[in-house]
Amino acid sequence: MNKNMGNIVCKFGGTSMADEKSVEQVAKIVKANPARRYIVVSAPGKTKDCQKVTDVLIECYGEIQRTGTCNETFPEIIRRYRLLNCGISSERFNNLMSDIKLQMEKSRNYDFCISRGEYLSAYFFAEKIGYPFIDAAELVCFNRFGGFDAMRTDKCCRQRLKEVKRAVIPGFYGQDETGAIVAFSRGGSDISGSIIAQAVNADLYENWTDVDGILSADPRIVPQARVIEKMTYSELRELAYLGASVMHSDALQPLIKAKIPLNVRNTFHPEKAGTLICSLVKDSNKQAVTGIAGKKDVRILFIHKLGLNAQKSVVRKVLSILEYHDVIFEHMPSSLDAVNFLIPYSSMSSELAEKIIEEIKAEIHPDNIKVLDNFAIVSIVGRNMYQRMGVAAKMLTALSENRINIRLLIQGCREINIIAGVDESRYEDSIKALYQAFLGDSSGS
Ligand code: ASP
Repeated sequence: MNKNMGNIVCKFGGTSMADEKSVEQVAKIVKANPARRYIVVSAPGKTKDCQKVTDVLIECYGEIQRTGTCNETFPEIIRRYRLLNCGISSERFNNLMSDIKLQMEKSRNYDFCISRGEYLSAYFFAEKIGYPFIDAAELVCFNRFGGFDAMRTDKCCRQRLKEVKRAVIPGFYGQDETGAIVAFSRGGSDISGSIIAQAVNADLYENWTDVDGILSADPRIVPQARVIEKMTYSELRELAYLGASVMHSDALQPLIKAKIPLNVRNTFHPEKAGTLICSLVKDSNKQAVTGIAGKKDVRILFIHKLGLNAQKSVVRKVLSILEYHDVIFEHMPSSLDAVNFLIPYSSMSSELAEKIIEEIKAEIHPDNIKVLDNFAIVSIVGRNMYQRMGVAAKMLTALSENRINIRLLIQGCREINIIAGVDESRYEDSIKALYQAFLGDSSGS
């Protein structure tokens, strides 16, 4: 990375903050490049013999609910931060810890309690590297319904951060208009980092974690999968929703909007360049496929009705029923007389599926309607597939040569991915076959 780059926002995840050695490593990384100005940190993560601090804080909250104090559970929090050994005097350390414990017991607020992991990480790390600490409550704003307030946040961040050249900031939370602490969903420090990157017009957002970057396939299925050097945000979106994720999905939007490149890197191997994600990648690498991904947890709602194509309101009625039941679908391939909805299990249980089928029957009187299970989707993703012939042919050949039946096939006009539906029992074989064909040593693509 160019050392003269002006303004880098870094986010360090839980494993990077887990113990004294890793925090030492984080300090080295920050100091190695003066452009690393705004440092967002998570709470200490899991280690061989310790739980994630956020999970311990959830236990503290439970104890406070039951007994009014967290006398039993809070000592583990004290132990974890003492192990970080951030060079603060014992007296200050003890005072701060007593204050936090008291505030948690007094507030009885879940979000406040679970956010203290990030608060303390940032406080101690700021002390260690001699940067100012800025509380995320001053920067990240929520509305009174708990929704993230992007406009107010942007204003607060710009005002507050223009006064400081460098700062350590806790991830994961902010404050609403009444002054109450509000947390993002789990893993939300990624979002804090990208919001701050947007507000300070960062040249780069570095997301430091414990993997070398984003891999070209799931290494549990393809052990030889390699780190992807560069890719576009569109490719990342496609790969991430199919499982290749190292970032909270809500963290991407601010970066895409502000056209800020994202670099996913490994705290424990800073010599490696990681994966660089940009809106546009200009490179000589014309490999058609960047990565292979897929997932098993999808079911298909299949509806057949003769003349479906000519009846204007039928699909609308089905969509309204899905919307009413809060069911999210990911793809909707259709033909003249039939439509298929690909729905994650998490969005539609078997009981709900039965209910929905009855409602659809009553509303549109289909000739056939059923839910297909034991289904998986596999996908090839690549920006260079656009306007390139033979990619689908190669995909289908790879699957057929491995005697894998394609139950469904999807490609949109963007030509950024091709998705095949296969039997769940052939999921791993499909991923391996596609990797071999497009990214294996002898793939030639
Ligand atoms: N500490 C929080 C969690 O465990 C947030 C984060 O790490 O990003 O989910």
